[in-house]
Amino acid sequence: MGVLDGKIALITGASRGIGRAIAETLAREGADLALCDLQIDWLADTAAAVRALGRRAECFAVNVSQAADVEAGVNAAVQALGRIDILVNNAGITKDGFLARMSEADWDAVIDVNLKGTFLFSKAVGKIMMRQRGGAIVNIASIIGLIGNAGQCNYAASKAGVIALTKSVAKELAGRGVRANAVAPGFIETRMTEVLSAEVRQKMLDAIPMGRFGTPQDVADVVLFLASDASSYVTGHVVTVSGGMVM
Ligand code: NAP
Repeated sequence: MGVLDGKIALITGASRGIGRAIAETLAREGADLALCDLQIDWLADTAAAVRALGRRAECFAVNVSQAADVEAGVNAAVQALGRIDILVNNAGITKDGFLARMSEADWDAVIDVNLKGTFLFSKAVGKIMMRQRGGAIVNIASIIGLIGNAGQCNYAASKAGVIALTKSVAKELAGRGVRANAVAPGFIETRMTEVLSAEVRQKMLDAIPMGRFGTPQDVADVVLFLASDASSYVTGHVVTVSGGMVM
C-alpha cells in the first residue's frame, strides 16, 4: 500500500531530471499520472517506468507558457484520468547572462516558462481542485529565488515570483481544502547543471555544508511529503533542499 493510493497527479516537465524522479516516486506510492512536456515522444521513458510500477501514465504535449496548451492539456488529463489531486509545477529553464547583457528575449523566455507556466497550471488545475474541495499543489522554485545570483536575474526573479505565487495561492485556496507549497532545490545533478564549468561546480560544492550535490531523488522525496496527507496541515511553505546551502 502506498501513501498516494487512488490519487491522480499531474507533473510538468516530466521527461527527465527532477520531473522524472518525481513521476517515479509518486507512482511508487500508488498515484496514477498525467505527464506533460513539450513533446509526447520525450515522455516515453518516464511513462514506461511508471507503467512498470503498475500505475497509469497518460502523456500530453503542453508548452506550459501557452494558455491554450495548458487549458487543453488539463482538460485532456481530466478526461483521461477523471480528476487531479496533485499538481507539480516542475517545468523550468535557464537562460543565464549578466544584467547589462541580458536580452529582452531571454528575460521573457524564462519568466514565461518558470513563472507564467506555474500561474497558468495553478489557475487551470486550481479550479478543478476547488470544485473537488481538495488537492495539493507543489511548485518547484529554487534557492536562487531566495538569495539571488549574479548572472541569473531572470531566473532568480522567476523563482522568487513562484514563491510569492505559491503563498498567494495557498491563502486563496486554503478554505477549499487546497494546499500549495514550494520546494527550493539547491544544486541538483541534472542536465540543467551539467553545463556549468568545473570552477563554478567547485565553488558551489565549497558552499554546501553537507559536502555533496543533490540528486533528483532528494527533491522528489520532499515533493512526495508535500503532495501527501503527511503534510495535511502545511500550506504556503517553502522547503529548501540544498544540503544546508540555504537555511
Ligand atoms: P531539466 O533536466 O532541464 O528538466 C526540465 C524539464 O522541463 C524538461 O523536461 C524540459 O523539457 C521541460 N520544459 C522546459 N520548458 C518547457 C515548456 N515550455 N513546457 C513544458 N515543459 C518544459 O531541469 P531540472 O534540473 O530537472 O529542473 C526541474 C525544475 O527544478 C526546474 O523548474 C528548475 O528550475 C528547478 N531547479 C533545478 C535545480 C538544479 O540544480 N537542477 C535547482 C533548483 C531548481 P525539454 O526536454 O524540452 O527541455
